[in-house]
Amino acid sequence: MENSITQRDIKMKLAARVGKVPPSLTLAISAKAKAMKAEGIDVCSFSTGEPDFDTPQHIKAAAQKALDAGKTKYGPAAGEPKLREAIAQKLSRENGLNYKPENIIVTNGGKHSLFNLMLALIEAGDEVIIPAPYWLSYPEMVKLAGGEPVILSTDVQTGYKITPEQLRQAITDKTKLLVLNSPSNPTGMVYKPEEIKALAEIIVEKDILVVSDEIYEKIIYDGAEHLSIGAVNSDVFNNTIISNGFAKAFSMTGWRIGYLGAPVELIKTIAKIQSHSTSNVCTFAQYGAIAALESSQDCVEEMRQAFAKRRQAIYDLLHAIPGLTCSKPEGAFYMFVNISKVSNSSLEFCNALLEEQKVAVIPGVVFGADDHIRISYATDLATIEKGMARLDKFVRSQS
Ligand SMILES: *Cc1c(COP(=O)(O)O)cnc(C)c1O
Repeated sequence: MENSITQRDIKMKLAARVGKVPPSLTLAISAKAKAMKAEGIDVCSFSTGEPDFDTPQHIKAAAQKALDAGKTKYGPAAGEPKLREAIAQKLSRENGLNYKPENIIVTNGGKHSLFNLMLALIEAGDEVIIPAPYWLSYPEMVKLAGGEPVILSTDVQTGYKITPEQLRQAITDKTKLLVLNSPSNPTGMVYKPEEIKALAEIIVEKDILVVSDEIYEKIIYDGAEHLSIGAVNSDVFNNTIISNGFAKAFSMTGWRIGYLGAPVELIKTIAKIQSHSTSNVCTFAQYGAIAALESSQDCVEEMRQAFAKRRQAIYDLLHAIPGLTCSKPEGAFYMFVNISKVSNSSLEFCNALLEEQKVAVIPGVVFGADDHIRISYATDLATIEKGMARLDKFVRSQS
């Protein structure tokens, strides 16, 4: 064709900020396991970070109704007023956080919430304290926003939790924010109320901000108690940002709905960012979220009980495998397993396990813990039994 434009080899110079950031390896491993399955290979996948249940019917019905009623147009960038109201009420009723609708912004998922928060808060050189093992996106979000992640390592001795002294010593005059995630992905640990209170004291004393990622608050076991750090007292409340969403509690990962609770000034700033980037979250999906909060919470408890059964089953099976050690998680749906007696590279361990036994798990290196693997038990009991038998075989073959 005469006028066709052909693509030349343009040497593209990408922004330095993306150079340091690797793609999400958990998504890559899940994708590889799915692709193997599609080829007809019998893969047991424990890699995904999402509940395997369908979204409860009444939530889907509310979104369908909204769709039929023409809720198909642009809405306010900060979210449907009715949803912001319902979220404010939830946080006040269930978490003791005194928020009004103007303290709430609706986002395209918890990940989007945290990313926008970093963009709104972090300047070049600002330090953000992240306890390890951490959710893999936290440090990358900080880097994308131009900040410096400061990693605090923990181990099984402290239950994978930071101590107040550790936090105090990590704070410098550049510290802007602490990222707290309880219940934790990947470790499943839950900070006890008195531990939260001790951290809150230091946050107030040093006047830093804390973002509390509470996405797993509903998935807890054995009477563990979730205390939102913002509820400790009004001083720490003013320094707190709450991040939560619908993905885990209501099995709505694909809906992409999360939210932040924070001081009004910050919410306005994040609304401004959203107004120039994503605009509002899918309008009719937000009506599903309203139904999730305003209807019976029985579905949440039913899923929690299913997770509790699987947790016990997988814990018992793992414990019978010589060479692997793990503690019993109090929340979320992951087993965080120490593999140091078997391998000194979590990535090699995971690749070999997938190749040889067709079992997909996530290497701890992506969470800042190369001597561990993460096994998600958001899958059925039959897969858990089959997969752990294969893992047992694999581990025995390594010695
Ligand atoms: C799943 C998850 C989120 C939020 O996920 P979205 O799907 O973006 O809502 C946030 N934090 C942690 C630790 C998670 O595991």
